[in-house]
Amino acid sequence: MAKIETPRPIRGTQDMLGEVADRFVRVVETFERVRRLYGFRRVEVPVIEPTAVFARSLGETTDVVSKEMYSFDDRGGESVTLRPEFTAGICRAFLTEGWQQHAPLKLATHGPLFRYERPQKGRYRQFHQIDAEIIGAAEPAADVELLVFADQLLRDLGISEGVTLHLNTLGDGGTRAAWRSALIEYFSDHKADLSEDSRDRLEKNPLRILDSKDPRDRPIADAAPDIDTYITDEARDFFGSVTEGLSAAGVAWTRDSRLVRGLDYYRHTAFEFVTDRLGAQGTVLGGGRYDGLMESLGGPATPAVGWAAGIERLAMLLDAPPPPRVHVALVPMGDAAALAATGIVAQLRRAGISADLGFKGNMKKRMQKANDLGARFAIILGDDELAKGVASVKDLASGAQQEVALDALVAAVRA
Ligand code: ATP
Ligand code: MG
Repeated sequence: MAKIETPRPIRGTQDMLGEVADRFVRVVETFERVRRLYGFRRVEVPVIEPTAVFARSLGETTDVVSKEMYSFDDRGGESVTLRPEFTAGICRAFLTEGWQQHAPLKLATHGPLFRYERPQKGRYRQFHQIDAEIIGAAEPAADVELLVFADQLLRDLGISEGVTLHLNTLGDGGTRAAWRSALIEYFSDHKADLSEDSRDRLEKNPLRILDSKDPRDRPIADAAPDIDTYITDEARDFFGSVTEGLSAAGVAWTRDSRLVRGLDYYRHTAFEFVTDRLGAQGTVLGGGRYDGLMESLGGPATPAVGWAAGIERLAMLLDAPPPPRVHVALVPMGDAAALAATGIVAQLRRAGISADLGFKGNMKKRMQKANDLGARFAIILGDDELAKGVASVKDLASGAQQEVALDALVAAVRA
């Protein structure tokens, strides 16, 4: 018979086990705890959406839409896309599910996203994000709340060291249009020295040239006109209120007038939390205000602001999590004892005490396993002891051992 080849995983996807998975879970659990503290409700949206949901809202010329989307025609001939980000899908749901009636809404979600990128450390084709959005709030206080939430999340994960909040304003519609024209004029004068990518972007998306990573673009981008010359009084006041709020909440930030972010829908506040510990993949959390997005999806003008963070990138920054521990290890010796242990381990777990059974091996091997599990107690069950209705409870820290009646085991290890 021909040898069966095991199919390889899809490039840029990950399988996680042990410590890697534990880190991932820690990010998600911390996020879930903190989002409750801030009163954000959990929302779930589909992994798959009509392609138009992303193409319209993210902007046709963005990297994500122009080259990273997983789009295909389904069997009914409809163009569908695996979500490359959360915001557009959440806004689609807001409009089609009639969530307007609940606005303002503070929403949080997490899950897998898909982008056809060149896989490398910290960059995958299936990756995962945590995401928070406030929909239907035009006040700068909403931006502040999201930023303070993000800051607390990073602190509670223990990774705020070396992380800086980079903050910018992209102004309102008027500001953006004036700034955009000025940038097109400026970059046109330097067209010959720009990278090919940036030359392509010049007319369509000149703001993106500002955060180009290409060394040929850097000096030109760094000397480009600042938004501050074009900003309307209203937009300046808005930004002032955001920074005042951050100061009041004790969140440090630094102005980064080159920060524009990759998606077209941002207005006013744009921000990134950047670490000095991940090299080129240093942005761990990013977001901003997207007051124009709902209209691009055919909905009414709806102010909104949000952020997303890559779970894998946050997970890489975490200290090694402690190995999973179990409180009680059961060490049954003999067939009757094995069956009794099955009952006891169930009782312990129902009482909320973590417990595990050593499945194989002699007494020594099983005691070794109990130690490996980091157990506080071992319950040793022999057929003889069982006949007397007792078991030995060994305190693995002190080595002390005592006989305990079977019906008193839960209480004996509860300490
Ligand atoms: P980058 O500049 O690194 O490509 P981005 O601007 O495309 O990031 P966003 O769309 O703002 O990223 O997504 C927010 C966060 O999601 C990023 O800061 C990062 O932590 C994470 N992220 C984005 N793309 C990937 C990916 N392909 N693999 C892993 N994490 C990712
Ligand atoms: Mg990207």
